[in-house]
Amino acid sequence: MIQLYQPLNFMGMVYREIKQAVTDIEAMFAILGRNPEIVDRPGAPDLKVAGGTIRFEDVTFAYDPARPILKGVTFEVPAGKSVAIVGPSGAGKSTISRLLFRFYDISGGRITVDGQDIREVTQASLRRAIGMVPQDTVLFNDTIRYNIRYGRWEASDAEVEEAAGLAQIHDFIQRSPAGYETEVGERGLKLSGGEKQRVAIARAILKSPPILVLDEATSALDSHTEREIQEALDRIARDRTAIVIAHRLSTVVNADEIIVLDDGRVAERGTHGELLAKGGLYAGLWNRQREAAEAEEKIAGLDRGM
Ligand code: ADP
Ligand code: MG
Repeated sequence: MIQLYQPLNFMGMVYREIKQAVTDIEAMFAILGRNPEIVDRPGAPDLKVAGGTIRFEDVTFAYDPARPILKGVTFEVPAGKSVAIVGPSGAGKSTISRLLFRFYDISGGRITVDGQDIREVTQASLRRAIGMVPQDTVLFNDTIRYNIRYGRWEASDAEVEEAAGLAQIHDFIQRSPAGYETEVGERGLKLSGGEKQRVAIARAILKSPPILVLDEATSALDSHTEREIQEALDRIARDRTAIVIAHRLSTVVNADEIIVLDDGRVAERGTHGELLAKGGLYAGLWNRQREAAEAEEKIAGLDRGM
């Protein structure tokens, strides 16, 4: 019995670990800062960033060859402009951010930054140029200070704390048991989704990169904190090239262009006003969200006894 029990137990453990490894594959890429399967071309030069113009040209991509995810996506983010990507969940929005970061190679088309195909430059130089606030932030098992400084290793303590302040996480850190030296992650203090998101935003603020990618960067925050951080994000996005993936459309009304992605294709594009006037997919999403927000306000009003 004992002999049988142990191997089974062992297999159970291996299975759990493999399963964990599969669901956490992106967490692993995030920790490594790369996908080990993607290698630099021998002698690849560094990316030379001028203004940070991003182009997706007829990009196709599939995680699994049997199931295409992006089906010919074309758009441009001119240097210094903000382009928002919106659309139903599963449309392929986060995939676009991962492809720009080159966590995966595309199967067709081209992605360029300032005219350079991202497959032709070193991954390190590409990633230095991009600040990414992902949908789910992975923290290192280290101090909060380390986790923010990851954005830019040379930053001083004062700069780390300033970035934390702009990301509305400084006060929380000061209240934590050991302040900036508090251990977080698996074995340390568990942070909520919103707190992790603010750490990621602080990282991006500290990194101050020419290109900024925000993937539902404020989705885990309450609407009050969201408004406050939105100002900081708007400020850092102002002089940079930015891709803003948004769930809440109220955060993208000022984007230079809004791209509506649906099932791996660009379904509509234009400014907020143009898309509303069109009365299509975007207008539908907008109206639904506005109604939901109004209903929420009414309930909040009732709660306050109004
Ligand atoms: P969005 O951000 O618009 O909600 P995603 O880009 O995350 O959508 O995902 C697009 C599609 O790709 C979804 O159907 C999702 O299930 C699938 N997908 C995302 N990541 C992976 C992955 N690592 N492996 C396989 N399929 C994935
Ligand atoms: Mg997503």
